[in-house]
Amino acid sequence: TKLFPVAVVTGASRGIGKAILKKFSSEGLSCVALASSKQSISNIKLGSHLHILHENQRHRSLAIDFSDWPRWTQSKKHYGIDYQPDCVASEFGLFDMLRSWSSSENKYYLAVLVNCAGITQTTLSMRTDPIAMARIMNVNLMSCVSLCNMAIKQMVRDRKFVPIKPSIINIGSILGTESSPIMPGTSLYAASKAALNQYSKVLSKEICGLDIAVETVNPGLVPESDMIKTLDTKIQDQLRHSMGPGTISSDKIASIIWDHYQINSRSRDVF
Ligand code: NDP
Repeated sequence: TKLFPVAVVTGASRGIGKAILKKFSSEGLSCVALASSKQSISNIKLGSHLHILHENQRHRSLAIDFSDWPRWTQSKKHYGIDYQPDCVASEFGLFDMLRSWSSSENKYYLAVLVNCAGITQTTLSMRTDPIAMARIMNVNLMSCVSLCNMAIKQMVRDRKFVPIKPSIINIGSILGTESSPIMPGTSLYAASKAALNQYSKVLSKEICGLDIAVETVNPGLVPESDMIKTLDTKIQDQLRHSMGPGTISSDKIASIIWDHYQINSRSRDVF
């Protein structure tokens, strides 16, 4: 039986997630691309977001609105598009592709989950209403936590035949680290990313016997991103000023995530 790795990438419709999807698919991995709605996954296309290098490489996209946590976690099926052989829209379970793509000759396994979906805040904490607060926490933290748990269960189920150490890579932010400049207007966003960092560290210890790598990567500012453009112009200027030397491109972040995945996958404890 031939084994094929699958990457599940959230926030894959735009920005950094799109760059990660392009990188992983152009390295030959089959990919499942997640974004918030039917509309946004309809923009995920072969050629622009997803590449095909070999005949056994398959791709799918899924629409899940993470702001609707915990309700989305209780849905067994989500609207999605399978790209090969033709584009077919249907309802799929999160990891259904591992079974439906597999055959007696080919087996697909979950090699990496990249939690990249994220939203920022647009007002100071005091002016942020509780619904906006819940959205930030549900997308940036709680949905990542649920996806980590779901992925770990799947990775453990398949561990007997999986030839590498699987990875969970969470995208934090420099604003959620201790070394970050303190930026007014990013309080809830920074808190969600700081919590994601700490969660990943403790989770990694909780599952240390399972041979799964869990880590958070904390990029600096991506000046051209939609996320930065949605911020108040004063905050944009402050961010550019304080992070000038720490700016980075989406493609560079994608190649850093790829390197992390490769290093982790080679460090399997038991074969
Ligand atoms: P973008 O705003 O360009 O893209 C955000 C992505 O998250 C989109 O794919 C979007 O999907 C998805 N998303 C947003 N809301 C939801 C939701 N409710 N449910 C499901 N998916 C959702 O962001 P970036 O590419 O700039 O950022 C990606 C990650 O990197 C984020 O976690 C961000 O915090 C982090 N980061 C960004 C930096 C920057 O400078 N831009 C710097 C450091 C970290 P849809 O198209 O459906 O809305």
